[in-house]
Amino acid sequence: MLNKLRQYIKANIDSSLELLKKYVNYPSVATDALSTHQCAEFLVSVMEEAGISTTLYETSGNPIVFGEIPSDNAEAPTILFYGHYDVQPPEPLEEWFSPPFEAELREGRLYGRGAGDNKGQHLAHILAIKAYQEIVGPIPVHVKLIMEGDEEFGSAYLTPFAQEHRELLKADLVYISDGPLHESGVPLINFGNRGVMNFSIEVETATTDHHSGNRGGVIPNAAWELVNLLHSMSDGRGKITIDGFYDDVLQATDFEEELIANIPYDTQELAKTYGVKEIPFNRREFYERICFQPTLSINSLGSGDARLVKNTIPAKAMAKFDIRLVANQDPEHVFSCVQRHIKKQEVKGNVHVYKEGEDMLPSKTDARLPICRKVIDAVGEAFGKRPIVQPVTGGSLPNAVWTDVLKLPAISVPYANADENNHAPNENMQVDCFLQGIITTATVLHALGDQES
Ligand SMILES: [Zn+2]
Repeated sequence: MLNKLRQYIKANIDSSLELLKKYVNYPSVATDALSTHQCAEFLVSVMEEAGISTTLYETSGNPIVFGEIPSDNAEAPTILFYGHYDVQPPEPLEEWFSPPFEAELREGRLYGRGAGDNKGQHLAHILAIKAYQEIVGPIPVHVKLIMEGDEEFGSAYLTPFAQEHRELLKADLVYISDGPLHESGVPLINFGNRGVMNFSIEVETATTDHHSGNRGGVIPNAAWELVNLLHSMSDGRGKITIDGFYDDVLQATDFEEELIANIPYDTQELAKTYGVKEIPFNRREFYERICFQPTLSINSLGSGDARLVKNTIPAKAMAKFDIRLVANQDPEHVFSCVQRHIKKQEVKGNVHVYKEGEDMLPSKTDARLPICRKVIDAVGEAFGKRPIVQPVTGGSLPNAVWTDVLKLPAISVPYANADENNHAPNENMQVDCFLQGIITTATVLHALGDQES
């Protein structure tokens, strides 16, 4: 039955691509409310056409499109697909080989803004749902889909919507396809991401810069004061020495350790590629650091004027930081630890520490859940390749809305090619990846409906 379904999906790839082209041609940059709304209406029609009963919800931002197909089997699990129909601004336009909103098929790829990020990926879900019903019959699980139009600018309206519609979004698993496959073409799966919090420190030691001869040795130097302050925050070997910085950090589970043991690992190659002297971590340490440890990064440092030889004592110095937070950590708590640490240091001057931007919370799902294991197996079956499962990705995504606001397990299974050029000119989705995506979703739906295993 699955074979027949896969054959059908392959045989219909041309019409699937035509639909993706039409979808990509909507210039749905979130700031263009009219085009984005039209794109949302088009999405509603595509979902309806696939047998999904769909509603467009107006928000204070762009619409949220929600659809569902209940299963005949009340006992069946509910899978909630998430995607976003808004796209990154296409600039710089002169670097595109074909216009970003006139999708073009070339050399086995569909080029256009949003082809991979994220229209091609969630359209794959919709087309799989349609194909499944046409070839196999009723979908064996309850299916829900939520598509938003503000992801590229931080998903500001998603959390309020989720808080207001808890019952509507109730599910056993949230399934997210965004981002690329591993560069080898092997599928990647992950169950969470680190959070991020940004802050700045400013040190001011005098009302003006001073002559380093006339006042050298008597007037405090803001650059030295900042350097000393930074020095107090780390042991110089990667460990942060701010009291409470590692509070609430969870150990990896045995299953997570097992997953880590199977992730490709080549630190020598990585070091060579980026001109890094040494990356002195074994596989376990390497991935534990990325998946399960918070970091404090100095993003920028400034004091004086680096372009000139001036013999001055700078009066001001500043640094910007990010902290990558791991599951179970609270950004407010970590920031209060930073503030307390700075207060305790003896700085000859005024220190101003303040947060910047919005925090993004960490998110993590327990990969040991039976439904997660079923998805891992189904993705492996669909690709004919064992997926690389990285328990947590190092970067930050707004997935806490699923795991923390709605308390739902969430799994990320990207479908785009590694060189999809998302957020860059000449964004594209390989036809093979699009096809494989449709097949994968169909296989996952089928596997989740199999109550036997
Ligand atoms: Zn994006």
